[in-house]
Amino acid sequence: MKKFILKAAQLGIASAPAFCISNNEILESAAPFDREIELGLLNHAYEGLKLQLVAAAKNADLSTRPLIEAEIMLLEDSLFIGSALKMIREKGISASRAISEVGASLSQNFLNNSSEYMKARADDVRGLADDILQLLRGEKRDELKRPSIIVARELSPTYFSCLERALIKGMVTEKGSAISHLAILAGNYGIPYIYGCEEALSEIKSGDCLIIDGENLIINPDSQMLEKVTLQANQFLDSSKAKLHLTKEYPVKIYANCASLSDIEEARAQNADGIGLFRTEFLFLEDGDAPSEEKQFEIYREAAKIMGEKELCIRTMDIGSDKTPKWMDIPHEKNPALGCRGIRFSLENLQLFKNQLRAILRAASFGNVKLLLPMIASTWEIEKTREILRNCEEELVAEGTLFKVPDLGIMIETPAAVMMAPELAASADFFSIGTNDLTQYTLAIDREGEGLDKYYDPSHEAIFRMIRLVCQAAKNQGIPVTVCGELAGISTEAERLINIGVDALSVATAKLHLLK
Ligand code: PEP
Ligand code: MG
Repeated sequence: MKKFILKAAQLGIASAPAFCISNNEILESAAPFDREIELGLLNHAYEGLKLQLVAAAKNADLSTRPLIEAEIMLLEDSLFIGSALKMIREKGISASRAISEVGASLSQNFLNNSSEYMKARADDVRGLADDILQLLRGEKRDELKRPSIIVARELSPTYFSCLERALIKGMVTEKGSAISHLAILAGNYGIPYIYGCEEALSEIKSGDCLIIDGENLIINPDSQMLEKVTLQANQFLDSSKAKLHLTKEYPVKIYANCASLSDIEEARAQNADGIGLFRTEFLFLEDGDAPSEEKQFEIYREAAKIMGEKELCIRTMDIGSDKTPKWMDIPHEKNPALGCRGIRFSLENLQLFKNQLRAILRAASFGNVKLLLPMIASTWEIEKTREILRNCEEELVAEGTLFKVPDLGIMIETPAAVMMAPELAASADFFSIGTNDLTQYTLAIDREGEGLDKYYDPSHEAIFRMIRLVCQAAKNQGIPVTVCGELAGISTEAERLINIGVDALSVATAKLHLLK
């Protein structure tokens, strides 16, 4: 029996024999290649794969079809097949070598992209290149005949779609990502899927008995463990059904966390229920100077328009700590995380704060805007902000400028805010729990610190007890609570948060699919 810990793209429990799929290595002779023959071979394999994909899309259900159609578009992209054909023409290399090089370089381009969603497309490109390689080698797809756990270095969504789904009990790949199309497919069908360990894969042969249990992979377990896990796997299936029931009874909004207009566009395209957290400090970090009221107004107005009637929660600049603008001469602080950051920075830099509040008030008349204050520890900080807001309103009225006063919410991310939640709930219109900072300040562990990861635990019981207190205080005052820290994006913890009484989860756009 051997045990490995991998990364979970789709959490779950499964036990079944391994079905190993060999990925394609390039085997080629040293003989020179005939360009015309290689071009013909590649075109033939390309057309063959396209036919397979079109057939798979036709037979797929509604949730899978768009993923296969995205594969077809990627395949048809001239940068993919066109570049490989060009390489053969210009360099006289084999069709296999050309498609493999194009697959590697395009996937590297995707990996260099700053968007997590685009990064995940790297796997799709490599998968397509592998599929073409397989066709070039004239191999027939391995046939899956009994319930199995699929094991592969990489697995393309196409390959997945051509397998008998009911027979796939789990998947283990060496390369992968939690937001790849394969992960999304695994999520659609509730198939446990783990990835990311070369050593584990080299230990597995087809027919070995495997267990996937959360992030754990067990090869050839003893009979006692196998019996226990089989029982748990059945319970897991029952609880998945219960989860569906829960979602129906308690509709929970799934919002996106964003830091720019392009993030907001992506979140809208991915059908987020709203933007739960627009981190505006990034607008202040970009430029050689502070963004003017006008520039901010244009950005917030555009964001409000993109979201339409869906909520757009704009957080005022959380400057300070690790986010300091280059154009500002901020005095050195010994403990910047405990220094002048968030609401403290805003109240210490009133003109900057007023510019931002005026821009937000003006943009609020173009959509469903909410205003959120970071790093609140005391009620006076909310009262002071309300006073500044009133002052901005008076100015805008006097100027005859269009505006609207949005709901004012606060981040609950300091232990003080948790303990003061009953009083704060009476002053604020909503709460948003920032578990990233709440973990840092509660567990006394620097979120930027290196080598202490195992102590930074957002699922710590202390954090959950605090969230319970905050939800209770909010409920007593009838105000809603969102969780917008990274904890909200951990699917197993999301269910716990919902059961505690959280009304909405706000997560990275890349996690929207999995969480929904
Ligand atoms: C948080 O602290 O959980 C949060 C969402 O805010 P940020 O990560 O921007 O500090
Ligand atoms: Mg924070």
